[in-house]
Amino acid sequence: MSVQRLKFKEIDKIDLSEISSIIDKKASSSLNPKLDDIVAKNGDLLEVRIAYNSGWDRKSNGLTPDAKKKFLDADKSYHRMTNTNMTIHVGKRDVNKQAELYIKYKYYGEGNPVLWPGCSFHNWGLAIDLAITDTEALIKSLKQNGWKQTNKNNPWHFECSGSRDYEKAANVIKSFRVSKTGLAFRWSEQIAWYYQKTKTLNKRIPTYNNRLQESKAYAQALLSEIESFNIDSQALKSRTNNFNKDVGKFNIEHGKANRLLTEINSMHSSSQRTKKSNEYERILDKLEMESVRIAKEDNAIENENKQALSWNAQLHREIADYRREDDCLTIENKLLKKIAHEIEQHKSNAVLHLKSIETQTWK
Ligand SMILES: [Zn+2]
Repeated sequence: MSVQRLKFKEIDKIDLSEISSIIDKKASSSLNPKLDDIVAKNGDLLEVRIAYNSGWDRKSNGLTPDAKKKFLDADKSYHRMTNTNMTIHVGKRDVNKQAELYIKYKYYGEGNPVLWPGCSFHNWGLAIDLAITDTEALIKSLKQNGWKQTNKNNPWHFECSGSRDYEKAANVIKSFRVSKTGLAFRWSEQIAWYYQKTKTLNKRIPTYNNRLQESKAYAQALLSEIESFNIDSQALKSRTNNFNKDVGKFNIEHGKANRLLTEINSMHSSSQRTKKSNEYERILDKLEMESVRIAKEDNAIENENKQALSWNAQLHREIADYRREDDCLTIENKLLKKIAHEIEQHKSNAVLHLKSIETQTWK
């Protein structure tokens, strides 16, 4: 009898490097957001308001000696006319109080409009606000004693224009008001900047913080997905390793069968040949079964690897998305911190300007 030739070829092993690789630690370590939330600035600038909050003089005591004398003379003459005294609501008002009133009106809509700090004659002890009872007598007695009603819209407000100090104060006030360089002008600019930027900053902070939270959650989800991907990928690799071992064994068996066939074909004894032929057939059946199993496994591994490769690509796209967002957030973070820093600078500049105004205004 003739013995059929081996119908199987040796099977190639799968190249492990073609199996989807796990995502390295470097890629996933970049998924730890390092940014912090940014805390909103105190919107109503309590600090500034408290720093400027000091009292004012409700009597004539804060007026310059000259203005005080002129007021008392006017009061005497008023008394002769009306048999009552004048009532001062505001006499001397210091520059800090002036600053506070200015901020309150301009940025909080409280109270009445007032001049910049240092620019009101109240700050110099040269102006008074009076209770108006007998207008005619009031104006007459004040006018006779060197006081002037300077603004028809504020009929209660009088300035001691007859005082020898008045012109001196007026000159300094003029210098305070000079555009760009005047202390009061600069103070008002710094304050305006401060409020505007604080508003901008506080508007942008919630958006930034929300985006940051979302980005952190995204990173967390992505990290755990990468972890399961890596576990699956590791499993696929060891499955492939086992497959390759089986292929190795199969190929060894395959070689043995080939040698057995050669041996059989060179045999002369027919009984021996029959015996060996049966053995050869059994080996062949086994090899056939094994080759079917290996082919199935080969297919399965190939499919799994295809899926893993597309998952891998998707994860890398998601990592890139995360990094783009993280870059944007880093830029926004820097910008917000810069604005916050500039706000602080403008605040301290405003405080410095106000101090300079205070020093240049006599007490
Ligand atoms: Zn006034």
